Amino acid sequence: MLSNSFLNLPKKVRIVEVGPRDGLQNEKSIVSLENKLKFIKLLNLSGLHEIEATSFVRAQKIPQMSDGGELFNLLKKDSDLLTTRLISLVPNLIGMEAALNAGVRDIAVFTSTSNSFNKKNINASIDESMLRIKELMALANANKISTRGYISTVFGCPYEGKTSLDQLKKIADQLLELGVYEISLGDTIGIANPKQVAEVIEFLSKDFKLDFLSMHFHDTRGLAVANVLTSFEMGITSFDSSAGGLGGCPYALGASGNVATEDLYYLFDSLGIETGIDIEKLSAASSFILKVLNREGQSKFLKAYLSSKSSPS
Ligand code: MG
Repeated sequence: MLSNSFLNLPKKVRIVEVGPRDGLQNEKSIVSLENKLKFIKLLNLSGLHEIEATSFVRAQKIPQMSDGGELFNLLKKDSDLLTTRLISLVPNLIGMEAALNAGVRDIAVFTSTSNSFNKKNINASIDESMLRIKELMALANANKISTRGYISTVFGCPYEGKTSLDQLKKIADQLLELGVYEISLGDTIGIANPKQVAEVIEFLSKDFKLDFLSMHFHDTRGLAVANVLTSFEMGITSFDSSAGGLGGCPYALGASGNVATEDLYYLFDSLGIETGIDIEKLSAASSFILKVLNREGQSKFLKAYLSSKSSPS
């Protein structure tokens, strides 16, 4: 029986699976092209139809993503993936040109609410990064490419601490104006708490529609699922997560990365909210990639689910 507070909430949510890009990029071992392709196909089979697949960044900078073009050439020929939104992260005009050559139809652009973070991450101030985005999105828009916007460090920056809500609004305004279909608000260092999440969503909801907002939580301090639930109760219906909780946190060694897709599945399923996910197939996708990486997943639900399947009970 749901409590009253859940009765008037939406009946389904969108999960954007970020494991193949955000997840794998933060894993140490390099995954082969063949295994990346298989992982994406298994995720798609599990009912995840918005998948961040790769990025078009300099190969020297992020070796794990150096095969974006090759991967995309294989993905676009796969008939099972024709209606799946396969998102590629693109940092600049050079990346955009490479993405177009590979036949990419969906991209994501990124900036941050912190000048220090942007300088360390992409060697550009916030304003400079917005100019790069403007330039690459002119090409994207001319080619009818859909664009998602990531905003990092919304809930805290490893260098500056709390970042400004006015700065956040300014970036969100600019991205809306440039034509992104939604913005994903990143808790880059996994420091957000439900109270802060509610404040940020309430602040932005004065100027933006709730379906323009998506939430990207990291489980570094164990509050990611609580933050997702608070966001959902406030009317947010789009969430980023990674299968098996793939990805570490580059700013806190050994800490958990993205909230696990399985944990979001369990949360929403228990509330009677549709995610479109077939948990058995998702667990097969996660088990496959975790075996490739030779490591345990971060999802508590996945661990419990797999052990309940293997024990005679
Ligand atoms: Mg992430």
